[in-house]
Amino acid sequence: MNEALIHYLQKFHFTQFDLKAILFDMDGVLYDSMPAHDRSWRQTMDEMKLHYLPQEFYFQEGRVGQSTINTVFQRNLHRDATEEEIKRIYARKSELFQQYNSGAIFSGAAPLLRYIDASGLKPVLVTGSGQPSLLDRLETHFPGIFTPETMVTAFDVTEGKPHPEPYLRGLQKGGDLKPNQAFAVENAPLGIESAVAAGIFTIAVNTGPLSNSILSGAGASIVLSSMEELLKIIPETLHLIGRISI
Ligand code: MG
Repeated sequence: MNEALIHYLQKFHFTQFDLKAILFDMDGVLYDSMPAHDRSWRQTMDEMKLHYLPQEFYFQEGRVGQSTINTVFQRNLHRDATEEEIKRIYARKSELFQQYNSGAIFSGAAPLLRYIDASGLKPVLVTGSGQPSLLDRLETHFPGIFTPETMVTAFDVTEGKPHPEPYLRGLQKGGDLKPNQAFAVENAPLGIESAVAAGIFTIAVNTGPLSNSILSGAGASIVLSSMEELLKIIPETLHLIGRISI
């Protein structure tokens, strides 16, 4: 971790960290929901007889729905989907997701958020999701952690991941922070690209089927195997960053 932290400071021209917030992606980081997203996308595309690539929906994770649909349309039909098609396809995918999603939380996620909060750091959510019930669900599973003021959702941005806008908004909601005042926690290549483009030290947790090299290739400073591993190393990491300056 020490080396990764120093490498980040050199690359982004900072002399030290001044950590105030940790920005968390949601799907695949807090919730074990990616298998249900993947299954729902594949079934929706199968029903429409549209071809997709192996692990495509893990590679596409983090994009807004419209962008994922257009990628598949361009490959199969050499055109974007119409607004009506997007509405219909996204509705079907969402319907299937409701059916398949177990709502399971990753082990380690809740105690990690409580630890961050108790350490005086602000947990901020940065998700491309636009489900209206999101806040209620987060409040049930992680009580007192997130408020509308500390959440970036699909409704807060015009550009989805991999564009830096979601994480730049996250820095804003964290308290008008500079990139060296936050960490990002991501599981997906495009989410990592978004956070890195915003200039943030990005920790990848590899909770899915893609190889670690894809996540580090997207720009992650460090790749961990689980939220539990992050929970285990966070006290030492917070201690370390107070002592590092270059
Ligand atoms: Mg994710």
